[in-house]
Amino acid sequence: MKSVFLTPGPSELYFTTEDHIRQAMREQVCSISHRSKAFEGIYKKAVDELKALLNVPEDYHVLFTASATEVWERLIQNCVDHQTCHLVNGSFSRRFYDFANKLGRKAILHEKPLGQGFNADEIELNSSTEMLCLTQNETSTGVQLPIEDIYKFREKNPDTLIAVDAVSSIPYVDLDYSKIDSLFFSVQKGMGLPAGLGVWIVSERCVAKAYKRLENGESAGTYHSLPSLLEKAAKNQTPETPNMLGIYLLGKVCEDMNRRGIANIRQETNYKAALINFLYNEHPLFSHFVQEEKHRSKTVLVGDVKGIAAAELIEKVKAKGMTIGSGYGKNKASQIRIANFPTHSKEIFERLVDVLNEIKA
Ligand SMILES: *Cc1c(COP(=O)(O)O)cnc(C)c1O
Repeated sequence: MKSVFLTPGPSELYFTTEDHIRQAMREQVCSISHRSKAFEGIYKKAVDELKALLNVPEDYHVLFTASATEVWERLIQNCVDHQTCHLVNGSFSRRFYDFANKLGRKAILHEKPLGQGFNADEIELNSSTEMLCLTQNETSTGVQLPIEDIYKFREKNPDTLIAVDAVSSIPYVDLDYSKIDSLFFSVQKGMGLPAGLGVWIVSERCVAKAYKRLENGESAGTYHSLPSLLEKAAKNQTPETPNMLGIYLLGKVCEDMNRRGIANIRQETNYKAALINFLYNEHPLFSHFVQEEKHRSKTVLVGDVKGIAAAELIEKVKAKGMTIGSGYGKNKASQIRIANFPTHSKEIFERLVDVLNEIKA
C-alpha cells in the first residue's frame, strides 16, 4: 500500500514534485549539457526562486553541493584556519564537530544531553574562535535553537563567522541572513525533493576568508572550494557535472512555494505542530521528549512512547497509510519522530492525530 511519509528525511515528496519530474523528462533535463544556455537558465531560476522564498539578501551567494554533509566539510576547509566552536546536542551536530576534528582544526565543544537545547547566555566564545557552528534544528532529537539566541551570539561575537545547519527546518525557519554568515540544507527534508543536492548560502565574509586562505598558501579544498564554486556560479554553472534534475526541481518547487506564500506555509506548520503538541500533552501513551517548550522543534516533533513499543505503534500507523519516523539511535525503541514539512497537509495531520488517538497500549 502506498504510504504518506511523515519521516524526517527522506520524506514525502512535495506534492508537485512528481509532475515536475515528468516535465523534466519531456525537456530532457538529464541529457542537456551542463555548459549549455538551457542549463544556465535552470540554474538561475533555482537561485532566484530560492532567494525569493527564503528572503536571502542580494549580497549572499547560493551555491550547490552534493548534500549538507558535504557543506560541513567545505565550511571548515574554506573558512577556518585553526578553531571552530560547536554546540552539540545530537547526532547531526556531533558529526559537524567530528568533521572539524578530522580536518585538523581545534574544535571547541559545548554539549547538552539529548533532548536539551542551548541558551546563548550560557556560552562564552573563546576569542580565537573563527567559526561558531550551530545546528538550528537537531533532527535526531527534535531540539531547536531559537533564532533569537543565534542573534545574541552575533551581537556578542561580531567578528566570528556563524554557520547554521538548517537541514530539517528550511523553509519554515525565518532568519535574518544579515546576522549569520552561512546557512545550508539538503533538499530531501522540508523541500520535498529527491536526495542528492545540498544548498549552501554564504556571506561575503566567508568568501573573503576563503580567498585569504589561498593567499596565505593554505588549501580551500579542490573543485568545491568557494572560489571555484563562485567562479562558475557567476556564469550560472557548477565546477562539476551537477545534479541537473535536482537543481531543476528545486527551482520549480521554490516557485510553487512562492506562489503559495511562505507566510501561509509557516502558519500551517504552526497549526500542524500544535495538533501534535496537544496530543503529546494529553494522550496517555505519549509525552514530549523535549521538556523546554522554547527548544521544541516545530518541524520534527519527537515524542516518548510508553505502554507500547514504538516499533509496534509505527506499524499500526503504517497500516493506516502513514509512515512516521522512529527515534534516532539509542532512542529507537521508545520514541517516534513526526516530520512537519510543507508537503504535509493539515488534513493528513488531522488524520494522523485520529489514528494515534485510537491506538491502545
Ligand atoms: C539530514 C541532516 C543532515 C545530513 O543531510 P545529508 O543530505 O545526508 O547530507 C545534516 N544535518 C541535519 C540537521 C540533518 O537533519
